[in-house]
Amino acid sequence: MTTFHLISLFPESFESYLNASIIKRAQERGLITVKHYNPRDFATTKDGKKAKTYAERRVDNRPYGGGPGMVIEALPVIKAIEKAIGKKRAGRRKEKGGKHKVKIIFFSPAGEQFSNVVADSLKKYTDIVLVCGRYEGIDARIKKAFPMEDVSVGPYVLTGGELPAMIVIDSITRRLPGVLGHGQSIEELRVASPDVYTRPEVITYKNKKLRVPRILLSGNHAKMDEWKVTRKEANKGKM
Ligand code: SAH
Repeated sequence: MTTFHLISLFPESFESYLNASIIKRAQERGLITVKHYNPRDFATTKDGKKAKTYAERRVDNRPYGGGPGMVIEALPVIKAIEKAIGKKRAGRRKEKGGKHKVKIIFFSPAGEQFSNVVADSLKKYTDIVLVCGRYEGIDARIKKAFPMEDVSVGPYVLTGGELPAMIVIDSITRRLPGVLGHGQSIEELRVASPDVYTRPEVITYKNKKLRVPRILLSGNHAKMDEWKVTRKEANKGKM
């Protein structure tokens, strides 16, 4: 079982995606668990009391060094991560008496590019903490509190780390044993074409007959795989 710990100011943004289809089923079947921690719940007042009002629960502040936007304060995020991992320690292989393997991921557009290879390397962890930034990001001192890896989901800047977290959860989950109905559904492990077809064999649209490529009806598996490879090549680099 893999537990994903989400550190985010906007836990509600995950709901629709994580509660649909295969990812929902993986949770129902106990293959993964998703837990939420909101840094606002760890905010304190100036005299160290638990923050209650909206204003007290604010955890963003103006950046040192100037510039626009707001930066999320380090301490509420550190406390949220602490709550998530408890006595488990990030990076440590095995705790005394425990069997937790913890990895902390810090989402940043400047991080290491996420990929199938990275997803595979993360499968071995029992606890994956996903730290989602917002605004101008999170005070970098959180990286001094715990070992963590900067991960980017692609060469573009988003408004928050929530979509990146869902990408990472989705991509790891579908690779876990038992999640996809058929082991072979993991595309990367077989010859898969970006163009796929299903019944019926012929459809009519605006008076045109649209047919399934004949080769896919041939039953010749070697030839069909060859065709799939050429489709893959032809689609490379296209948007
Ligand atoms: N000023 C920051 C960008 C902040 S974007 C910078 O230049 O690096 C706000 C947050 O969204 C980030 O803290 C990060 O958590 C998330 N984010 C935005 N784009 C991302 C991407 N491509 N990959 C991963 N996380 C991203």
